[in-house]
Amino acid sequence: MKKCIVLLAIFLLTACQSQTSDETTQEQVVPQAQATETNGREVAYQQDPKPENIKTKAQKSVGEQLLSNYASFTLTSDLSGLNENQKQMIGYLIEAAKIMDDLFWLQSYGDKNDLLEGIKDPALKRYAAINYGPWDRLQGDEPFLEGYGEKPLGARFYPPEMTKQEFNEQATDALRDLYTLVRTDEQGQLQAIPYHVAYEQALLQAAEWLNKAAELAEDQGFKNYLQLRAKAILEDDYQASDLAWLDMKNNTVDVIIGPIETYEDQLFGYKAAYEAFVLIKDQAWSQKLAKFAQFLPQLQAELPVADAYKREKPGTDSDLNAYDALYYAGSSNAGSKTIAINLPNDEQVQLLKGTRRLQLKNAMHAKFEKILLPIAHELVVPEQRKHVTFDAFFANTMFHEVAHGLGIKNTLNGGGTVREALQEYASALEEGKADILGLYMVEKLHHMGELDGGELMDYYTTFMAGIFRSVRFGSSSAHGVANLLRFNYFAEHDAFNYDADSGHYSVNPEKMSAAIASLSEKILTLQGDGNYQAVKDWFDKGGQQSPQLKTALRTINAAGIPVDIVFEQGGAQLK
Ligand code: ZN
Repeated sequence: MKKCIVLLAIFLLTACQSQTSDETTQEQVVPQAQATETNGREVAYQQDPKPENIKTKAQKSVGEQLLSNYASFTLTSDLSGLNENQKQMIGYLIEAAKIMDDLFWLQSYGDKNDLLEGIKDPALKRYAAINYGPWDRLQGDEPFLEGYGEKPLGARFYPPEMTKQEFNEQATDALRDLYTLVRTDEQGQLQAIPYHVAYEQALLQAAEWLNKAAELAEDQGFKNYLQLRAKAILEDDYQASDLAWLDMKNNTVDVIIGPIETYEDQLFGYKAAYEAFVLIKDQAWSQKLAKFAQFLPQLQAELPVADAYKREKPGTDSDLNAYDALYYAGSSNAGSKTIAINLPNDEQVQLLKGTRRLQLKNAMHAKFEKILLPIAHELVVPEQRKHVTFDAFFANTMFHEVAHGLGIKNTLNGGGTVREALQEYASALEEGKADILGLYMVEKLHHMGELDGGELMDYYTTFMAGIFRSVRFGSSSAHGVANLLRFNYFAEHDAFNYDADSGHYSVNPEKMSAAIASLSEKILTLQGDGNYQAVKDWFDKGGQQSPQLKTALRTINAAGIPVDIVFEQGGAQLK
C-alpha cells in the first residue's frame, strides 16, 4: 500500500531575525519549534492526510510523491555588471563550495556515491541527493528508503554506537570542539580528530581554489578575507577570517564557506557542518536601505503611540544587505533552504564587530513564485491577486528587518529591558512588532513619495498572503501563535474579509490602515509597559484558528502546493 505523505508546510518566513538570536541554534532540533529565521531551516510539519490529496497523489510513485514536496528553481543573477576576473573568480568559488558539499555528505551520511549508485528509482535517487542521505529532512529524518533505520542523532560526527553517557564520561574540550570528529581508538577510548586532519586532502584543494580566487580579487578587503579563509580551513581557526569578513563593505562578490552551523549534530549540537554560499550583492537595494535608514528618527517620532513609548532613539542597522545566491552547498543546501543569513556565530567576534545580515533575494523569489503565489491563487479573491507581487514581498521583508530598530527596548518603569519583562513571549512579540511596523514604514514612506513602484494595495495584499503562508507553519510555538494573533486581529477589525461562498479572502484598504495603526499601538504599549500578564493572556486567548482559517489551510493542503524548493545551480545556469 502506498503511503500517502501529506507534508505541509512551511514556513518560509519573513526572514526575520529577532534581536536575541539564540533561537537560531535551537530551532533545528525540534521540528515544530518555531519560525526559523535566519540561517536555520524552515520547518515542515505534518497534517492529517486529506482525502483530496490521496486521490491526486495516488497516481504517482512514492519517489514522485516525495519529489513533489520540492519545486525546482534555477539560481541565477544578472552578471552583466561583472568583469571577466569576477566571473572567473565565481567559478573558483563554486569549485571550493563543491568540496564543502562532499565534506557535508561525509559528515551527514557517509559515502555519497555508494548510496546514490545503489538506488534504481530515479525519483528516489534525486530525493536522496536533496536530503544528503536516506532520511527525509521534511519529515523529522524518517527513512524513505527501504533497509535504513533511524538516522543517528550525531550523524557521522560521532561513532554510531556511542551513547551520550559514554561521551559525557570521557568528554574533554577536544571532544566537544566545534571542529573535531569523535572516533573510537583501538583501546575503545573516544578520540578527537580535527577536521583539518580528517579531511586534509579535500581542504587543501578547497584552500587552493580560495587562493586562486583571491589572486583575481580586486577588492582588497575581499582578497584579504579569501586568503585568511583559505588558511582558516586548514587550521580550524576561523576568528581572523570572520573579522575580515565583517570588515568588507563594498565588494560585489561574496562567499560564506566552512564548517558553520551545528544543526546537523542533533546529539549535542557541538559539531559544525560544512557549507557554502556563493553570493552577489544587490547594490541597488543596499543603497535604498541606507537611504531609508535616514528616515528612522522621523518615523519613530510619528509612531501611532503615546510619546513615552517612543522616547528612545531608533537603532539603525547598516549591515543589512540584499544578495542573490549563485550556489548553495553542503548543510545550507540540504532539505529546506535558508533565505536569510546572520553571521558569524562566534560570540567573541560578535562582541567586537557585530554581525552581518544577508537577505537572499533570488532564493526568496523562488519561495514567492513556487509557494506564496500558488497559496494566493487559492485564497485571495481573484480581483486582488494582481496585488500579490514579489516587489512588495521583498520590501515587506526588508522593512521588517529595519523595523526592529523602531519602538522601545527598555520598559517605561525603569525595571529593565522589554525582553527581560516579557520572557518567553518577548521574541514572538518583537517579531510581531517588526512585521506590523515594517508595514507602517511602507505606508509612511509611500505617502512621503519615497517608495518607488507599487501601490499600497500591493503591500497590504502581499502581507495578507504572507500570513497564510506563515500560519500554515502551525501554532505549536509562540511564533506560530503570534502569526495567528496578527491574522485574527486583522480579521476582527475587518481589514481581512472572508467570503464563505468562495472561500476567498480580500483586503479592505481603509480598515487595513486603521488596523495597522491600532495594532502597532497595542504592541508598542505592551512592550513599553513590560506587561507580561497581558501579553500572556493575549497569546492564550487570541491565538486560535477560526473555522474559516482551518478551511483555508485545508484548501492549501489539497492543492498540493510544494513545501520547499530545490535549486538548479552551478556553471551552466550562470552563462
Ligand atoms: Zn525579525
